[in-house]
Amino acid sequence: MKLILLGPPGAGKGTQAQRISTAYGIPQLSTGDMLRAAVAQGTKVGKKAKPLMDAGKLVPDDIVVGAIADRIEAPDCKPGFILDGFPRNVAQAKALDEMLKKKKTALDVVIEIRVDEAELFNRIETRIKQAGEAGVRADDNPETLKKRIEVYREQTAPLIPYYQKTGKLKVVDGMQPVEAVWGQIQAILKGVERG
Ligand code: AMP
Repeated sequence: MKLILLGPPGAGKGTQAQRISTAYGIPQLSTGDMLRAAVAQGTKVGKKAKPLMDAGKLVPDDIVVGAIADRIEAPDCKPGFILDGFPRNVAQAKALDEMLKKKKTALDVVIEIRVDEAELFNRIETRIKQAGEAGVRADDNPETLKKRIEVYREQTAPLIPYYQKTGKLKVVDGMQPVEAVWGQIQAILKGVERG
């Protein structure tokens, strides 16, 4: 099972990706997590990415495309993978298409978790309160979130018609509680498995 979870920051992609990962035994590939690890390790990529991440902007395509290209070659990706936070624009989606074509494979499904913008601001404020000072992500603040939502609207949302055209896009209502979203996702994945 090879799939993409698409949706704005705070839509619950990470939470649902973890559930899919456990249920299907496939890894969650989060470019955001990979970049945060690079920042924590102080690598060259990390140094380049940090100011962009802190500002809520996208890091250059070559960095994330290269990271995903390497990662999907790992043995644990053989049965499939969940892309969380990648692709973030049409150029990355095209690069992914090429990558998969070379491997003579393709995506099974793209799941969009749809949430309205006002709800995203409520969620991020809750996340900041719950995390407390120490645990808070540098980009989890209302200003950066505003920028990240803007970037989503302008650069990532065009992936919705892009994948709609392939017939692989499925939409779930991300305004529902986590369990209900999970129920919808399971139904979609069962449908995909049945073919
Ligand atoms: P995330 O954890 O997916 O919300 O990502 C956190 C930040 O990492 C984003 O705001 C971007 O700065 C950067 N990032 C993550 N994934 C990508 C991507 N596919 N392309 C460009 N930048 C990314």
